[in-house]
Amino acid sequence: MGVASYFRQIREAVVTIVDGMAVSASHLIRRPYTIQYPDRLERRVQETLPFRYRGILDVDLEICTGCLACERACPIDCIAMAIEKNAQTREIVISQFDIDIAKCMYCGLCSEPCPTGAIHHTTEFEGSDFSLESLILRFVNEPVVAYKPKKGPEPDPELARMLGAGMRYVDEWAQPAADKPAARSAAPVKPAPSAGPPDAKA
Ligand code: SF4
Ligand code: SF4
Repeated sequence: MGVASYFRQIREAVVTIVDGMAVSASHLIRRPYTIQYPDRLERRVQETLPFRYRGILDVDLEICTGCLACERACPIDCIAMAIEKNAQTREIVISQFDIDIAKCMYCGLCSEPCPTGAIHHTTEFEGSDFSLESLILRFVNEPVVAYKPKKGPEPDPELARMLGAGMRYVDEWAQPAADKPAARSAAPVKPAPSAGPPDAKA
């Protein structure tokens, strides 16, 4: 090793150390990227998550048509529904709508085919609990008549609001590209093509 090479290596070593120390020292004056979770936050993390975040599922039962499309779409059978048809009124009655979030893998496949956006992901992710049983979300306390899409706009303002939110969700899931058109109006809602016979499942 020549003298020139010896001093060049010393210089490179010093430069390397100074470079590394400069990076470390810069963190003394940078704003930290980490956040103090879950406390000491100005806003809940859930409020900062994007619209398409796939958190714990929720169901607006008021606009569920009972079509079973979500239940069929789930690849691991997280969703358990029971519906029947009232022979006199010909209405569909939903007597069970459970989602096992202990099994759910947050894939979103159930919410994509929903004709009304009734089933949708939320930005909620804190689901820990003490038992697996309590991780089964039960959305039906007593049998309810399924929502029937109207031919024209939904006259009930509260249902129209829910449908508006639901259809925005469906549109943004179906067409996530930047050039997607504006969300469709809240009504009319087309029944799901995959809607099966109402007594398909008990
Ligand atoms: S998000 Fe996926 S795994 Fe979870 S219920 Fe829906 S389809 Fe099933
Ligand atoms: S796909 Fe939507 S409308 Fe159909 S049963 Fe599921 S939540 Fe209800």
